[in-house]
Amino acid sequence: MTKRFSYYESEMEGLSIAEIESRLAPSLQKQIGYCYANSTFYKRKFQEAGADPKDIQTFDDLRKLPVFMTKEDERACQEESRLEQGHPFGTHVCAPVEDLYLTGTTSGTTGVPTFTYTFTKNDLDFLAPRLAHRLALCGVGKGDRGLFFFTLGIYATTMTLWGLRLLGALPIDIDARAGTETFLKFANLTKPTFLACTPSLALYLIDKCPKFLGYPVSELKLKGLLTTGEPGIQDPNIKQKLEEAYQCPSFDYWSPAGHAPGVSCGAPLYQGLHAVAPEVCTSYFDLIDPVTQEPVPLEHGAVGQMVHTSLHRQACPLVKYAYGDVVQISLDECPWCGFKGIRAKLVGRADDMLIVKGVNVYPAAVKAEVMKFQPRVTGQMRIVLDAPPPRVEPPLKLKVEYNGQLAGAEQNGLAERIAQAVHDSLRLRPEVSLTPAGTLPRSTSKTPVFEKAYE
Ligand SMILES: [Zn+2]
Repeated sequence: MTKRFSYYESEMEGLSIAEIESRLAPSLQKQIGYCYANSTFYKRKFQEAGADPKDIQTFDDLRKLPVFMTKEDERACQEESRLEQGHPFGTHVCAPVEDLYLTGTTSGTTGVPTFTYTFTKNDLDFLAPRLAHRLALCGVGKGDRGLFFFTLGIYATTMTLWGLRLLGALPIDIDARAGTETFLKFANLTKPTFLACTPSLALYLIDKCPKFLGYPVSELKLKGLLTTGEPGIQDPNIKQKLEEAYQCPSFDYWSPAGHAPGVSCGAPLYQGLHAVAPEVCTSYFDLIDPVTQEPVPLEHGAVGQMVHTSLHRQACPLVKYAYGDVVQISLDECPWCGFKGIRAKLVGRADDMLIVKGVNVYPAAVKAEVMKFQPRVTGQMRIVLDAPPPRVEPPLKLKVEYNGQLAGAEQNGLAERIAQAVHDSLRLRPEVSLTPAGTLPRSTSKTPVFEKAYE
């Protein structure tokens, strides 16, 4: 079997980090100059940082700049452009507003939506083949039907549609707010070959499919499951559970803020998101400590928050945008598919990060330990916070759902073993309380990690 399909080949694969950085430096210089010349927001940011755009010649120069934007800053500059310029796209828009060709947002269910996914025609012409390539690596091709099931429906996938269409595949879209029953009926009618949704939702459908359609999810006869939006199949238990239930391979794909296109390969043991198009942005090369915001050296195994800077974007280019994703970088060759570029594993969200006794703790890492106890636990858990994060007064409190019947002594034994496993892995001993299966609320979008007892 061919391990890798392709649509487009990046000229960067196989080059060293230093070679990629030097090849992309001219794009960086051009993009920075363009942003400074065409946006009041970026002009102000450079002035505040005491930096001249002409000083940004290399990736190293870029790494020394402070963060220019967070999601909150983006909302603020959208509000500013709405009031002063009569459009909602932000004062960081660099292209004439009449040249905007596509806009989309993944947010809007919490807080004011951000229009981070706003492009000109040129932006999409550049991005689409790279998005197509990412899907081709999952086996998507001509004649395939991709069924998308996200909150806000098509808005979460707008840009992906351009990649899908280049491959000759047909996108089908359902807003997750339509509910599971409607979705499954639609799946039954349209017979998709690929399903894209969050891993939590894919797991949820395993139980619901027999109830609403009278058959297991394996009968959907998918060629592949495409998951995104939260850490999922990087956990071997989740990957195995999904692949056994759906009887097809699962892939993780992402492109936060329309940047950093990444996809996992079909390796039986997850090998991270493969950075298949480094020429899109500097995101995989610019990591900071989520707390101090100091640059993190780009070494094998480095962990840091990704900072996005566009290299080829006209509409809403990003410069030093801390979008919140914390990743761990691998620089060696993928042992399964031979990919030679950078790979990244999602560690968590910077705003989910907790600090317990001075140690940075990501909920996803805690959950990965709990998941090892399946099937005795359901996989549903919460971290109970008595005060606003990130600082937690020890012990860290976990609420974990167990399966079946457990007598008091057995419960104590299981809770103790979970606490020990978390301690062995993360060097902190949580206080674990068990709760029967089905007692923690389920979500059709991203599963909450915290139970905020202080609210
Ligand atoms: Zn691989």
